[in-house]
Amino acid sequence: MRAAFYEGGGRFRIGETSRSRPEAGEALLQVRRVGICGTDLHIFQGHLDHRVPRGGVIGHETLADVVEAPAGSGFQAGDRVVVEPLLVCGACRACRMGASYLCRSLRVLGVDAPGGMQETWAVPVTRLLRVPASLSDDEAALVEPLAVATHDVRRAAVKTGDRVLVLGGGPIGALIAMVARDGGAEVAVSEINPFRVELLRSLGLEVVGTGPALAAHVEGWTDGDGADVVFEVTGNPAAARTMTEFVRVWGTISMVAIHAEPVPVDLYRFFARELTLHGSRLYAREDWDEAIRLAAEGKVALAPLVSRRIPLADLQQGMEEALRGGPVMKVLVDLRA
Ligand SMILES: [Zn+2]
Ligand SMILES: [Zn+2]
Repeated sequence: MRAAFYEGGGRFRIGETSRSRPEAGEALLQVRRVGICGTDLHIFQGHLDHRVPRGGVIGHETLADVVEAPAGSGFQAGDRVVVEPLLVCGACRACRMGASYLCRSLRVLGVDAPGGMQETWAVPVTRLLRVPASLSDDEAALVEPLAVATHDVRRAAVKTGDRVLVLGGGPIGALIAMVARDGGAEVAVSEINPFRVELLRSLGLEVVGTGPALAAHVEGWTDGDGADVVFEVTGNPAAARTMTEFVRVWGTISMVAIHAEPVPVDLYRFFARELTLHGSRLYAREDWDEAIRLAAEGKVALAPLVSRRIPLADLQQGMEEALRGGPVMKVLVDLRA
């Protein structure tokens, strides 16, 4: 069985591993597709070396087939499933509050514990969700990032008629924009990568640039009031510095991006306009259910976001290309290629 092992220093090694052995309460999976996301690029660059062990297996956006599952688990061989990649304690304050995805001892599969970049994988059945047959493998492989987006939009309480500005039109920004639009919001996405701009426009999304062009757009669009909700999805300090300019009185800013370092933010605007800022990370089970529903009903276009499928053997090259930020949206690793 092949797997990709993180070696540190921007290296992955494709090697052989024995077939995974499920323990009690676990199903054995045969992996079909694994998405590469921004978190994986952080791992690749060594930013998460305090969490990812040498020899660790990454991959947290996984579509797989069940090979075997415990009797009475509700799953059986042949089921096509996605994996909610979280191990939680179930007892800490966050878990008791219904925020187990923020568990004090949270372990993310594919970061802190082995993930999906291996041909066979043993996963607790409590972490599996069945996907409808109507979804293609590429679409189903995007359910995890779509659950991020449904969580972000739910947490920001986007309502029908809201004007929503999404800063950053990568995969998560694009998905947030489509989920918010399906919820009845008017949406604009700020993005400058030409490939992504064209792709977003092909999805019927309004795309604006950055800087003065963005400010002028929001001014005209909202009659000078500002947007109801702004999602910060770029992780760029310049976006954090200016995001407060685009929000109306009593408006909301949702911090979706990972800002690894403290960055300047205009706190005066929070005072002057009584703004709200909240973080948005990962997802609860209801966000997965909503993501699967939206995907199955065709409310969110997933297939166009897939730029490329690569075999596991090309992971190293795929990471390097993704990092260069060229003409790419989502890259999927096809474990059966
Ligand atoms: Zn991800
Ligand atoms: Zn907990």
